[in-house]
Amino acid sequence: FGKRLEDLIGKRWHPIAVMEDVPHIEAKLAALSPSNPVVTIENRVYDGQGEIHWMEFVNRAFFDADGNITHIQAVGRDISVRKEAEIALAINAQLEEKVAQRTAELQRANQELENFTYAASHDMRAPLGRINNFSALLRQRYIGHLDEEGRLFLDLIHQNASRLYQLVDDLLAHARMGTEKLEMASIDLEATVQVLVHERADDIQRLGAQVRIDVAPGMQAPAHALVLNQVLRNLLDNALKYSAMAKPPRIEIGAGPSESVCRVWVRDNGIGIDPAYHQRIFEIFRRLHTYSEFPGSGVGLALVKKAVERMNGRVWVESEPGVGATFFLEWPAPGPMPMAI
Ligand code: ADP
Repeated sequence: FGKRLEDLIGKRWHPIAVMEDVPHIEAKLAALSPSNPVVTIENRVYDGQGEIHWMEFVNRAFFDADGNITHIQAVGRDISVRKEAEIALAINAQLEEKVAQRTAELQRANQELENFTYAASHDMRAPLGRINNFSALLRQRYIGHLDEEGRLFLDLIHQNASRLYQLVDDLLAHARMGTEKLEMASIDLEATVQVLVHERADDIQRLGAQVRIDVAPGMQAPAHALVLNQVLRNLLDNALKYSAMAKPPRIEIGAGPSESVCRVWVRDNGIGIDPAYHQRIFEIFRRLHTYSEFPGSGVGLALVKKAVERMNGRVWVESEPGVGATFFLEWPAPGPMPMAI
């Protein structure tokens, strides 16, 4: 401790201990008694060079016939390395606890927000549907009683109610999508894509679009059937919508298996997306066009992102404005994907 014997003999141990630890040492030593003659104390001391070390002292007390302490023998060893590791561990544990606490708070807040969206859109849906239906009925039955301006007003009510209804419907789907991880099953990718394209046969024909399916027959992927369908439907609908002006619209839906992931893409030769927006289009309500240019609610890609994340996967876009866009989905597929026989 860098002290001479004379500095210590006849004095208490105070000159070497860190002052803040003294009350703790005193309290421990006060517990010494003939029936409890040994206490172990961990405390900090100064070495001769002004550095602080953690020590573990085993203190043994000796008593006279009346039970008073005559002297204490203390044997100390330097435990600085262990103590520093323990402190670092405790700080880490505290940090982890804080992170877990904050994460739980965030999850709760998110859940509340999601519940609110769900409740709000759910309750708005029915009255909106009625406005929609009654404006259609009004048009049907009373069109003859309205002048041109009246008909225009009615059309505007109908259009806006329909648009709001669609938005609320999309929001409801987004809120329903939830966030928990999904149970996956083996899905026939090629059949899924075929059914989807078939569903949109009318639109494809109306637009004169050429749709190519580049998925090996019988290709299997671990996925959640309903969720995957919804994701692919959104991407196909967007591809059709944003390439409608191309002559002709060309759309490709492809899939490529690899060792550990399943990758599916939907490519179009439409208007494309400015690179500045390649990330932001996945945010809810982020739209790059006015409603009159391209109708939509701006919920579709946010839903795609949420859905793919529930399959532990990711979605991204590669695109050049004016040339087209390719949306990629990728999610874990443990082991090579087997081909169905
Ligand atoms: P919506 O299509 O209803 O506006 P989305 O969330 O599906 O909403 O898409 C968000 C935005 O991303 C769209 O408004 C559009 O600007 C852009 N986008 C999506 N898909 C494509 C695509 N295939 N080609 C070009 N732009 C796209």
